[in-house]
Amino acid sequence: MSVPEDSTVRAVTFKLNGGVLGTNGSPAACPKCGEQHLLTVRVVPDEIGETPTYVECPWGHLWAEPTLPQRVFAGLLAAVAEEYPEEWAALNRVLAERGRLVAGA
Ligand SMILES: [Zn+2]
Repeated sequence: MSVPEDSTVRAVTFKLNGGVLGTNGSPAACPKCGEQHLLTVRVVPDEIGETPTYVECPWGHLWAEPTLPQRVFAGLLAAVAEEYPEEWAALNRVLAERGRLVAGA
């Protein structure tokens, strides 16, 4: 995946309307309030791998979620970029203009 070279954006942010299963098979949940929906995940292109994704619940609690490593979402993005290059280019334009993407809205 690629982010425009002149972009200062370092993270791709997804707002998930539904819950998301972690690699342990359980839904990701806020450690403070237990919220499992409307989570926002942050994928950092420079940290693709086993680094936990940062997740924020609707109530502003932010945590590193080890069951959602960066590679999970990076893999999705890479698959989209390869399979749908025109749509990927459109997404990159949105990202460059707005600094974030909203999925499932
Ligand atoms: Zn919370």
